[in-house]
Amino acid sequence: MYQLNPPQRILLGPGPSDVHPQTLQAQALPLIGHMDPAFIQIMNEVAEMLRPVFGTKNHLTLPISATGSAGMETVFVNLIEPGDKALICVNGLFGERMTDVAARCGAEVTRVEAPWGEAIDPAQVAEAIKKDKFKVVGIVHAETSTGVKQPLEEIAKIAHDHGALFVVDCVTSIGGIPIEADKVGIDAAYAGTQKCLSAPPGLSPVTFNDRAVDVIMNRKTKVQSWYLDLSMIAKYWGGTTRVYHHTAPISSIYAIHAALRLIHEEGLENVFARHAKNGLALQKGLEAMGLKLVVENPDHRLPELTTVYVPEGIADAEVRSRLLHEYSIEIGGGLGVFAGKIWRIGLMGHSCRKRNVLLVLSALESILSGLGYKCEKGAAMAAAEAVYAG
Ligand code: PLP
Repeated sequence: MYQLNPPQRILLGPGPSDVHPQTLQAQALPLIGHMDPAFIQIMNEVAEMLRPVFGTKNHLTLPISATGSAGMETVFVNLIEPGDKALICVNGLFGERMTDVAARCGAEVTRVEAPWGEAIDPAQVAEAIKKDKFKVVGIVHAETSTGVKQPLEEIAKIAHDHGALFVVDCVTSIGGIPIEADKVGIDAAYAGTQKCLSAPPGLSPVTFNDRAVDVIMNRKTKVQSWYLDLSMIAKYWGGTTRVYHHTAPISSIYAIHAALRLIHEEGLENVFARHAKNGLALQKGLEAMGLKLVVENPDHRLPELTTVYVPEGIADAEVRSRLLHEYSIEIGGGLGVFAGKIWRIGLMGHSCRKRNVLLVLSALESILSGLGYKCEKGAAMAAAEAVYAG
């Protein structure tokens, strides 16, 4: 019969990332029932460990039983009622997806745009928000299609000054860079497990503050999605008497529990510092190889996801295929307008290690040199090492 025999890869793409053995092992622990008091205790611990990673004390913090896109739908389907107005910032594929999801939930969507590879300018948001009464302002914190880190504070303030809720996509930021939801003024956020949390894909942590909960509790219409209706999910994830909603993915909850424990054992600040250092080393290494980074402003570069242009005359797919087959390294190609033009190299969670930085730099140098690309041998590794030494 068929054998299940996936190859051992080094996952340096835009997610999923490598998963720590302890997190993988957690999924093999015995199943218990989704209403077992022991499982309720595990759920409580997951929520408790999630809050600091979001930078929040929000009571309504829990993982939705589906991937990041379901987290996106959860936020919009619960906050939006047909005819509500949403101002959505679009500077990449996931901002684009947000407009689609919001519109499907019945929102009238106005877009604020920036070119792919650039952050959204708060001045544009300030201008656009004056033109209507928006219920929600939505933005992506870490745009995985471009590698842009979006500053949030100013836009949060603009949203609040106009009485709108501030909604943030934290799928690629969670566990890689600080989110600080309470300090920034994020009213609702959704995330993913398969990036810097380094758990398998399949859950989407979400968090809602009291303002957002108030909006949900005072809806005039029923939430259109039965599965994602937070008023029901909250009764399973909170309160003294738990009410069955759906059968929780027990093993996935074990995995996120283990992944969050590892993060807290290392210490959030150390986790962020590790991402910052390795990301910078990779970026300096790529530049020393003569490659051009997509995000020009260094302050807007994500440490956990570096985007770099494919050099002139080099076939994108051939390089990625050789990395995969000769080195077992996965990196990502470009999406949308960047298809075939850029590479996306992730250093997320358990993948974010010096070993992987030096490995991917030397593998790229070797493959590119073999294809006739001119670069100084060893310069990339030296530039990366200089970051570690500094
Ligand atoms: N938002 C961002 C920023 C993402 O990077 C992704 C996935 O890569 C998503 C949303 C969607 O998440 P998922 O693919 O887990 O549904």
